[in-house]
Formats: sequence, C-alpha cells, structure tokens
Amino acid sequence: MSRKRETPAVGTPATAPDRLALRADCANCFGLCCVALPFAASADFAVDKPAGRPCTNLQADFRCGIHAHLRERGFSGCTVFDCFGAGQKVSQVTFGGRDWRQAPDTAPRMFEVFPVMRALHELLWYVTEALALPPARPVHADLRRALEDIDALTRGSAEALAGVDVAALRQEVNALLLRTSELVRARVPGRKKNHRGADLIGARLKGADLRGANLRGARLIAADLTGADLRTADLIGVDFRDAELTGADLTGAVFLTQAQLNAAKGDATTRLPRTLSRPAHWPSGE
Ligand code: SF4
Repeated sequence: MSRKRETPAVGTPATAPDRLALRADCANCFGLCCVALPFAASADFAVDKPAGRPCTNLQADFRCGIHAHLRERGFSGCTVFDCFGAGQKVSQVTFGGRDWRQAPDTAPRMFEVFPVMRALHELLWYVTEALALPPARPVHADLRRALEDIDALTRGSAEALAGVDVAALRQEVNALLLRTSELVRARVPGRKKNHRGADLIGARLKGADLRGANLRGARLIAADLTGADLRTADLIGVDFRDAELTGADLTGAVFLTQAQLNAAKGDATTRLPRTLSRPAHWPSGE
C-alpha cells in the first residue's frame, strides 16, 4: 500500500506467473489499495476511511503524497500491506488500463474484484513457493494444476472474478500446502515443535530452536524471537506484528510472505529467504 514506483511487471498471459508478477508494482496500479480497502483509525492508520473512498493522501497520479513519511504520519499499516501484484493485474489486465477516474462507472466493480484478485495472487504466491521446494515433488503435479487453474481465474472478466468462491478455493489449495509442509519439514531431523494456531502473543522465544516447527496460523504478536532458528518452519498465516526477529534465521522458512516480514521488527542481522526483501523501515545497522 505504500504507493512507490517499482520495476514494471504487468502480467501478460503466461502459464505460470513468475515471482515478480506476484509483487506489488505500484507504478502500474490505480492506487487500488488506497481506495478499495477500508481502514479504521488505529495504531496502523491515522484516520478512518470507508471502502471505495480514496485516501486523502492519494495524488492524482495514484502515488502517495506522504510515501517517505508514512510511519511518522501514523500510517504504518500502509508500509505493511502487500497486494501480491493484484493491483497491477486488476488495473492493467482486468480493466485494460482504464482507471476509475477516467471511467467512474467501472469503479464499484474494480473495487469489488481487487480483494478477490489479492486472495488469488496470494494463493499463487504460496503455490509458486511450494513448487520451488524439491521435497514436495510428490505433490508438484497437483500444485502445477492448481497454479494453472488459479492463474486462469485471474485472467477472467471482472464479472467472473466477482463470482469466484475464494473460501472454497483456499480450502482446496490449503490441502496441497499442508502436504507440502509435511514433506518439507519431514526432512528436518529430530522432534519438531507443533504450535499450530497457538496463542503466543508476547512469548519469550529468544534463541528458540524452531527448525521444522509447525507454526501455521500462530499468533506471535510482539513475541521475542531474537536469534531464534526458524529455518524450514511452516509460517503460513503467522501473525508477526511487532514480533522481534533481530538475529533470527528465517532462511528456508516455508510460506513466509513479505507482509508478515513488514509487520515484524528486524534488522540487518535477520536472515531472510532469498525470495523476500528486507523491509525498508528496518534499521540497516550502518
Ligand atoms: S497514506 Fe493513503 S495514499 Fe498513502 S499509501 Fe496509505 S492509503 Fe495509500
């Protein structure tokens, strides 16, 4: 949601999206996250905004007027959000480059399908991740089929997108991701911890050995994971808001997303999977 300019990577028809197409490309988006989504005044957003109303900081060129100062101005939530490339797909593919200012009659549909596209692109991210994991080879054929099906859905009309049963699709894909996780974590020797769905808010896990752990959906808000070893842990859906990841090792962590990292605290000593970037707001240590 931070409305910066990045390398253009607008999706053209392809059988499998590359990871670049699954990252936000704000330069090719009509500021959809800053208009379509609602937010409530809180520690993350300085003001209330209903869905469908442009944020007052959104400029005419769809860039954020306070991009360099989001955190100081009380909009840290904007630095956490990641659309997985849904914004540019809806703007340039679904609506063919016609923005909601030029064509106001398209606005309601465009704002309706943006969250659907985001959910589909999030699934594409996970499936792409799973396909890159050699131990998951036994389910790769199923994953490839799922990827092709979801990719085809993302290229449908706005009407078709609005009708997608996201919950059912998520359930279907989740079964494959769960199997992937089991296959990958089975390679880690020894007993693996199971904290699936656990409430670990504020937990003291400094230096914890969480290699190969199942942390699916765990709430690790403000947990101290300084120096923790999270290699090959399944981190899908983990709530890392304000979790301390300084010195933690996340290399090879399964299903970690950029938004999860953006929400956590870390620095130059945090080891990351090579597919993700160090959040710009983390101290560089220089
Ligand atoms: S402050 Fe407004 S315009 Fe800027 S990134 Fe956040 S929602 Fe978008």
